[in-house]
Amino acid sequence: MANESNFHSLSKINRTSLWVYHVPILCCSNEVESVFGPRFDLDRFGMSLTKDHRRADILLLTGPINAKLVPSLKKIYSEMSTPKWVVGVGVCSFGGGMFAPKNEKYADEIPINVYIPGCPPRPESIINALLSIANEAGKHESA
Ligand code: SF4
Repeated sequence: MANESNFHSLSKINRTSLWVYHVPILCCSNEVESVFGPRFDLDRFGMSLTKDHRRADILLLTGPINAKLVPSLKKIYSEMSTPKWVVGVGVCSFGGGMFAPKNEKYADEIPINVYIPGCPPRPESIINALLSIANEAGKHESA
């Protein structure tokens, strides 16, 4: 039987049950895989990887963005449901990193909400960024 308390609980679950779509461009992808693996187990916070970008809340970019990738990334971003967030993992995803200056001009093509510095960043930094988005998603839902 549905009541106000059930709806409150469901809304609480939805706040942190976020789907993550990962675009593995380069080596930072290994860090992302470890975050969702048995050691760090991000599933315990209700976040899982999805293979369908249309249902994803978070787009994870790991590696330098180049001219060939821009149209595909823009398409993926436009087809994601709202609200949506983009996380740039590692310096390559937003500044080109060791591939700068060749790739840094494409970094602004996709609106990145959270930047995670490092080459590669520690898994704890990735977890921290994803949890901050879950927090933000909670505020968005209760607004
Ligand atoms: S930031 Fe470093 S580890 Fe990450 S994709 Fe770039 S070169 Fe690889």
